[in-house]
Amino acid sequence: MAKLYDQAYFKDKIIPITDAKLSIASSAVLYGLSVYTVFPVSIIKAGAMAFRLPDHYRRLVNSARIIGIDTFEPNWTYEKFLKIVEEVVKANNLTENVFVRATIHVDELVPGTRSRGLSTALSIFIYEATPIVPQDGMRLKTSVWRRIPDYAIPSRAKVNGAYVNSVLAKQDALDSGYDDCIFLDTHGHVCELSAANIFIVSRGVLITPDTSSDLLEGINRQTILEFAHDLNIPFQTRTIDLTELYTAEEIFACGTSSFISHVKEVDARIIGDGKIGPITKTLREKHEKTLNGTSTTYQNHLTLLS
Ligand code: PMP
Repeated sequence: MAKLYDQAYFKDKIIPITDAKLSIASSAVLYGLSVYTVFPVSIIKAGAMAFRLPDHYRRLVNSARIIGIDTFEPNWTYEKFLKIVEEVVKANNLTENVFVRATIHVDELVPGTRSRGLSTALSIFIYEATPIVPQDGMRLKTSVWRRIPDYAIPSRAKVNGAYVNSVLAKQDALDSGYDDCIFLDTHGHVCELSAANIFIVSRGVLITPDTSSDLLEGINRQTILEFAHDLNIPFQTRTIDLTELYTAEEIFACGTSSFISHVKEVDARIIGDGKIGPITKTLREKHEKTLNGTSTTYQNHLTLLS
């Protein structure tokens, strides 16, 4: 279990995380009716730096909007959100890099299966930045479970309840001795991993599924596309067939909790020579530098938490 930091934000207060309690009768508990985001905070010389915080705030608000949770956005500007993030980070006297999870919970009691006009509570807590997949080459298995389509539960909304889909697929992969899964959509096209986006390199071109492929629009995915653009690496966002993975020169996953991690095997096929490929390596180094503030180009992606 990841180490949890003691001080959390919940219902207008910074309190010990063990005191932050949601009712068993709330929609958040009954239906998984909460939306969330997780962002990294790096501790560097200049201070605590949050990565792409405005984008995380926007995705959180958009997730609520998609689901029809409408009492959060009018009360929470980005500035107010930033102030609370700063307070939680300060309250925990951080000395190492962490992940911060911010969740909007529908905490109304037994309102039935609806979303509008219900009370919401924001929670923010901090935990250690341990990667969720191996960083030295992971093995993936195509899942027996398909990704929930946009017309059922939209993947671009980060809804707690929808993560049962990820749990099924990840557990199936673990049960079969793999590190994580490849989710396919209802047509058999590649979507993503259980909690990370996927990129392949095929004939020198970097390719990732487009945003209509039932995936979470990852903030690191977007960052990798920016890097590719700036580094003149040819790239495409398009539908990917499963068998394209089997012949790819490189495959990697990206996400806050996965960082940039290369894939060495898919469904018992070794990818390239099984080692990290040159494009993945370049992008991974750039990503690391961006997060730890040593890249001069992408300073605008970091928010100093005073
Ligand atoms: N897909 C899913 C299903 C995820 O849960 C995550 C992690 N948030 C990602 C992709 C990657 O998103 P991000 O780069 O914003 O962390």
